[in-house]
Amino acid sequence: MSIKVGVLGLQGDIREHVEILKKLGIEAVVVKLPEHLEKVDALIIPGGESTTIWKLMKITRMNEALKEKIEKGFPVYGTCAGMIVLSSGVENYPEQETLKVIDIKVRRNAFGRQVESFEADLNIKGVSDGLFRGIFIRAPLIVDYGENVEILCEYEENPVMARQGNVLVSSFHPELTEDTRVHELFLKMI
Ligand code: GLN
Repeated sequence: MSIKVGVLGLQGDIREHVEILKKLGIEAVVVKLPEHLEKVDALIIPGGESTTIWKLMKITRMNEALKEKIEKGFPVYGTCAGMIVLSSGVENYPEQETLKVIDIKVRRNAFGRQVESFEADLNIKGVSDGLFRGIFIRAPLIVDYGENVEILCEYEENPVMARQGNVLVSSFHPELTEDTRVHELFLKMI
């Protein structure tokens, strides 16, 4: 049986994740409603605006359905805003609601206004054959994490990629490169 990977299609860079999955020969399904979750084996939450994604998730009750599934072991990968949505809280926006399925606290727009976007060569645990070009766009940082969280990558000593069980997160956007290695790492979790 071939695997199907969903991309949460509420807001953000949805198409780029779909394209990179297709490039890997994986069937990608845009997921908008809770019932669509039953048709996929895993889900990617794209980058975009975490508050907007959250609002739309609440309206569709996707937040509740997804949390329940993730807690039962459903694999999920959040990039940038997706990482914020999955986190257990936002340091600089303490009122912001999140799914709380990975024990990390994040800081939104952590790289300040002057460096809103930048690229960096990253060394990622579990990704072989050289450095990975990370694209950061108004990116969040992991400022605190629990003992069950494995940090997979750091940028200037700040954690920017992590995993806890079936939940994978990164501050940067591998879907905006031609490099499929981070998506391959996620596929191994399915
Ligand atoms: N700054 C956005 C947020 O806080 C995230 C940016 C992104 O996903 N590229 O939600």
